[in-house]
Amino acid sequence: MRVLIAEDQAISRRLLTHALEKWGYEVTAVRDGREAWEVLQRDDSPNLAILDWMMPGLNGVEVVRRIRERNAEPYTYVILLTGRSEKEDLVEAMGSGADDYIVKPFNRDELEVRVRAGRRIVELQQELIRMREAVRHQARHDALTGLYNRGAILEILHRELGRARRERSAISVILADLDEFKRINDTRGHLAGDAVLREAARRMARCVRGYDSVGRYGGEEFLCVLPGCDTELAGRVAERIRTTVVSEPVAAGEDSLRITVSLGVASTSGPATPTADALLQAADEALYLAKEAGRNRVGLAAPVEGTLVLPLGLEGNDATPS
Ligand code: GH3
Ligand code: MG
Ligand code: MG
Ligand code: MG
Repeated sequence: MRVLIAEDQAISRRLLTHALEKWGYEVTAVRDGREAWEVLQRDDSPNLAILDWMMPGLNGVEVVRRIRERNAEPYTYVILLTGRSEKEDLVEAMGSGADDYIVKPFNRDELEVRVRAGRRIVELQQELIRMREAVRHQARHDALTGLYNRGAILEILHRELGRARRERSAISVILADLDEFKRINDTRGHLAGDAVLREAARRMARCVRGYDSVGRYGGEEFLCVLPGCDTELAGRVAERIRTTVVSEPVAAGEDSLRITVSLGVASTSGPATPTADALLQAADEALYLAKEAGRNRVGLAAPVEGTLVLPLGLEGNDATPS
C-alpha cells in the first residue's frame, strides 16, 4: 500500500520513510502541505497520509480540511503528526477530519500499529467499493450474455429518445429474435440453447458502434438502440447483424449448430420524436412481418412520427381568421 508522508523536518521525514518502507509500504515523501495537496489531487494518490501538523505554507490541519471538503472517493485516511499534546489542540486537529494522531517524537511500535489500523480501514473501503460496483454491474446486465438487461436497455432507450427530442436528431431501434430457437432447446437441450444465446449476443454486440447499445430484451430477443441513425443506416446495421449471426455455426458442446435470426427495424421521422412504446411496437410489427415472410431476414417499419407538442398559446394560430 502507498503512503504519503508530509513533514518539513528532514530528520523526522527520513525516519518515517525508513520505518514505513521497512514495514513494506511504498512511500511518497514531501516537505510541506502544498506539495502534499498536489500529490493528493492526482488520480492515483495514496489513500493513507501521515501529515505533520506544523508545516510552512499549508499546514497539516488545513490539508485535512481540504481533503474532507473535496469528499472524494476512495477515502483518504489521515494520521496527524503533532509536537503538541495539549488536549484542546488535539480536539481542533481531529475536528478538521483527521482519523488519528501521533505525538512527536513518535514511538515506532505505536506508529506501526496506528498505520496498520489505517490500512485496515482503507482496505475495507476498497473492498466495499468493489462489491458495490459488482452489484451495480449485476443490476444492469444480463448474467447469461453479459449484455444490458431489459431494464437497462429500456432506460437507455428512454434517455436517448430524450436526447433525440432535444437535439432533433434521428434514432432507431432494432428488435432481433432468434429463429426456431425453441427447437434448439427441445432437440439439443437447454445448455446448448444457452451457448447459442451467448454466442449470438457476442456476434450482435460486435456489429454496432461504440455509442450504440445492445440488450437482452427477453428470452431470445435482443434490442439495439442506435442514436443518430435513420432507417437506411439502421437497416444496414440490422442486415450486418443478420449476416454475422448466421455467418458460421455455433459450437455447443459436441454440436455445431446453424442459427438464423429475424430482425425488425423502426426509426423516428419528422420533427417530433415518438414514444419508446410507439417505436418498440413498430419494430415488433416489422419483426413479425420478417418472421411471416420466412425468417432469416430484416423487416423495416415505416418511419414512426411523434406528436408535435406546441408551446401553450400557439395552438390556435393556424386557425386564426385574418
Ligand atoms: P420463432 O422463429 O418464431 O422466433 O420461434 P422460436 O422457437 O424462436 O420462438 P418461441 O418464442 O416459441 O421460443 C422462444 C424460446 O426461447 C422458448 C424458451 O424456452 C427459450 N428461452 C427463453 N429464454 C431462454 C434461456 O435463457 N435459455 C434457453 N436455453 N432458452 C431460453
Ligand atoms: Mg513541522
Ligand atoms: Mg421470441
Ligand atoms: Mg424466436
